[in-house]
Amino acid sequence: MLITDHLIERCSHIVGAANVLVDEHDTAPYLTDWRGRFTGRARAVVRPASTAETAAVVRLCAELRVPVVPQGGRTGLVLGSVPDAAGDAIVLSLRRLNRIGAIDTFNRTMTVEAGCILQDIQHAAAEHGMLFPLSLAAEGSCTIGGNLSTNAGGTGVLRYGNTRELCLGLEVVTAQGDVWDALRGLRKDNTGYDLRDLYVGAEGTLGVITAAVLKLFPQPKAAITALVALATPRDALALLKLVEAACGPTLTGYELMSDVSLRLVAAHFPDLPQPFPERYPQYALLELSSHDSEAHGVALLERAIERALEDGLAQDAVVGPSALVTHARPIHAQHPARPPLAHLIGRLQIGRSLPMRGGRHHFFPSRSFSATLSSIASASIRLSLAFSSNSASRRRASDTSRPPYLAFHL
Ligand SMILES: Cc1cc2nc3c(=O)[nH]c(=O)nc-3n(C[C@H](O)[C@H](O)[C@H](O)COP(=O)(O)OP(=O)(O)OC[C@H]3O[C@@H](n4cnc5c(N)ncnc54)[C@H](O)[C@@H]3O)c2cc1C
Repeated sequence: MLITDHLIERCSHIVGAANVLVDEHDTAPYLTDWRGRFTGRARAVVRPASTAETAAVVRLCAELRVPVVPQGGRTGLVLGSVPDAAGDAIVLSLRRLNRIGAIDTFNRTMTVEAGCILQDIQHAAAEHGMLFPLSLAAEGSCTIGGNLSTNAGGTGVLRYGNTRELCLGLEVVTAQGDVWDALRGLRKDNTGYDLRDLYVGAEGTLGVITAAVLKLFPQPKAAITALVALATPRDALALLKLVEAACGPTLTGYELMSDVSLRLVAAHFPDLPQPFPERYPQYALLELSSHDSEAHGVALLERAIERALEDGLAQDAVVGPSALVTHARPIHAQHPARPPLAHLIGRLQIGRSLPMRGGRHHFFPSRSFSATLSSIASASIRLSLAFSSNSASRRRASDTSRPPYLAFHL
């Protein structure tokens, strides 16, 4: 019997025939990168529903020497969750491991299976008056197993850290098909080596994450957003320092974007009011989370930004409670009657990607980089140069209607 037939037959015994997909029509959604850049091949797509089933499938693949490509929500940007063109692997979809287990509000932890959608986890935490702070634009589709395996960052890294910092315990099926059970919720864990940190960020190369214990935080009473117009990325760093000193850990989000980004918003959402009557080279989008009250948060942020305006660090600004569309207001004295901005901020959201025509980024090639805060000012210059040293990009860079599009999650 051919390996593939043998594999399919034995996988069907483990997960049920309905969860071993081989038909081209059924497997297609699992084999193509979500941006449609690449379609791979696989012997089958296998969809276990428990840790035991996952372990049995991985054990079988180890025995038959069949490569395994773990897959969560398939929102990763680097083709990690789709198989290559060789066709000798299986795709192991974790989406059926989607149970949210115990939520311990005293220990501030929740136990979840790897295939849980990030947004469902956020909602479950909120129902218990708690916050799971990982937030990124793919949160309606990505899974916590994928977030852990890519050590995803998102909008709250400044305050809460990457996914690694949000995880206390893990359950993993090793490459041999054994179950490594470290589903612990102990914060003060000083027991020897920390294998957990090897699996986080490993992109499935060392094992398959099947469950995790996540950290929860008290739910803030209000979120307040501000958009601040700036002259340079360096001013954005000085503003960050100023606001952090004034607001401390209540500052939970800080995004830097160029005027090109805002012009893209205007081009694609022509009905939205523009935040400022004039254009500025850079904008910082801030989010402050208040555990006191909305009024307290607004006052705190306004005071800090007023100082930045007085110091000449900020050029203009609007502040408002992010949930209340009509309440954003300019705080620069020269522009008292500005259209409400929170609607625009609400659409922008911190770190949300903008849908392009046809759902794709047609005009702007996208790359992700990580940099230290202090290197952002020089990085923005170097990235612009690097962008224009690529021949295809040079054509675009020389076209002033399509300058490089740079945005920073801080
Ligand atoms: C619109 C958008 C915005 C994004 N914003 C951010 C952002 O702000 N910050 C950021 O860091 N990333 C961001 N990303 C990328 C981000 O890494 C992914 O969206 C998410 O973390 C991947 O989760 P997923 O379930 O889709 O994983 P997949 O794409 O399915 O898989 C990603 C990788 O993890 C492996 N994997 C998946 N599940 C498991 C598992 N259970 N065990 C072992 N390995 C596994 C896969 O083999 C693959 O290598 C964004 C993506 C999109 C589309």
